Amino acid sequence: MNIVFAASECVPFSKTGGLADVVGALPKALAALGHNVSVYLPKYKQTKIADARTLLPSITIPFDDQYRFCSILDGGRQSGVQFYFIDYPQFFDREGLYGTPAGDYPDNAERFALYSRAVLEGCKTLGVPDVFHCHDWQSALVPVLLGSNYVEDPAFRNTATVFTIHNMGYQGIFPPDTLPLLMLPWDLFTIDKMEFWGRVNFLKGALAFSDAITTVSRKYSQEIQMPDPELSFGLDGVVRGRSESLFGILNGVDYAEWSPETDKFIARNYSPEHLEGKQVCKRDLLQQFGISTGNFELPVVGIISRFVAQKGFDLIAEIVSELARLPLIVTALGSGDREYEELFRKFNKQFPEKFAVKIAYDNALAHKIEAGADMFLMPSRYEPCGLNQMYSLKYGTVPVVRATGGLDDTIEPWDPTTKQGTGFKFTSYSGATLLATILEALQGFKDKAGWSKLMLNGMSKDFSWNASAREYLRVYERLKPSRHSQRDILAAEDTEEPKLVIR
Ligand code: ADP
Repeated sequence: MNIVFAASECVPFSKTGGLADVVGALPKALAALGHNVSVYLPKYKQTKIADARTLLPSITIPFDDQYRFCSILDGGRQSGVQFYFIDYPQFFDREGLYGTPAGDYPDNAERFALYSRAVLEGCKTLGVPDVFHCHDWQSALVPVLLGSNYVEDPAFRNTATVFTIHNMGYQGIFPPDTLPLLMLPWDLFTIDKMEFWGRVNFLKGALAFSDAITTVSRKYSQEIQMPDPELSFGLDGVVRGRSESLFGILNGVDYAEWSPETDKFIARNYSPEHLEGKQVCKRDLLQQFGISTGNFELPVVGIISRFVAQKGFDLIAEIVSELARLPLIVTALGSGDREYEELFRKFNKQFPEKFAVKIAYDNALAHKIEAGADMFLMPSRYEPCGLNQMYSLKYGTVPVVRATGGLDDTIEPWDPTTKQGTGFKFTSYSGATLLATILEALQGFKDKAGWSKLMLNGMSKDFSWNASAREYLRVYERLKPSRHSQRDILAAEDTEEPKLVIR
């Protein structure tokens, strides 16, 4: 099968979060199963490609005021996957991918509309796929364009679209005049397509026009259908309307990157059979954060995160004084919204011996935390999948998580009697419940034999991509007989022609 991935970030070329890990790994897993996979990415300032060759020097992208001309570069092949880069320095040669700590770039609609159109135009020369697999609002215009401006294009007559929601909290919402600016037709501005409270919503458009929709865990596919604005961000009705074409497929882990046995970034490699190296990593981690190794016996709680409201750190703020009195040390790495960066700086200032904080994006340090910590904390308000809890399991670093989305799907609560389970979970979103769960984990840590079993239970879990890649293939295969069914339904509604039925 020929598959094109359209996404705004991908390891090792660009990353702000888990999306990049997924787009870096899933295409490789699909290629390993014998499929022909290409990935189209924007070429950002942070994207480093050796000897990139220009394949298509001039792709015309219409805007209402002027045409813009971007090019497509050959990013070469890696692990059987072909990479292409949309090069338009005026839009992408910037410090951030989507904005700065002060906020989003004001021209994000134009930036990612140009990107999406360039993917379609590029494919016409470089190869039209059987399936476009698009991710998040930045590539949401690919299915929208295929169902509107490109609906008559014979090149894509047999191309289906799959759209993966990595996070419902980011929808790409812009003012209505974005439509004419991007040369998109006004008939997209209806409640069943892109209109959303008087504005244009890119993600909503993808939900309307894609042939199949996936989420990155099973639980999240259920949560976003609930009329709870904290989970569905107002699109629960739209998602429920597409529930027959909605699939929850858990993200996998790229164990070539995230395994204590081979990790290049950690002080000493280790394995379930030889756990000694983990102690070396713990010592190294404390040193990295400038903490006295005199406190070596205390459990270290790791945090690696984008610092945003979703991640639940206001719960830590509620209980910070109590936490500081407990026998533990927190090592936190993160960056993001100013408000949360300040919050962590404050924790560190108040309790320097207890809260070691680094405000940065630092991949090497992220690996050191996974390896050196005893526990890993994710108290998220919502979590579409979450990767760090799965990385933590492999590193014998016991997750303490809120039971939401992928965190709930991947962590089994520890039962000290049966010695079953892989971590600690709580449901109610409150500081008191978080504190009680941390106390439970500390109790568990005191029982050395029990804790070793708990670590080994987690280390034996296998979340590799192979199983998830096979599930995606099943979704792609399902679409074959009813290619662009959803697009045709919407087109039929406009023309009063008989409707196709989604199978
Ligand atoms: P999200 O996509 O919501 O940010 P995920 O858990 O799915 O959350 O993925 C986060 C990914 O980003 C992980 O690979 C994690 O290690 C990485 N990450 C997040 N913040 C940082 C940081 N400050 N430094 C290094 N890596 C980070």
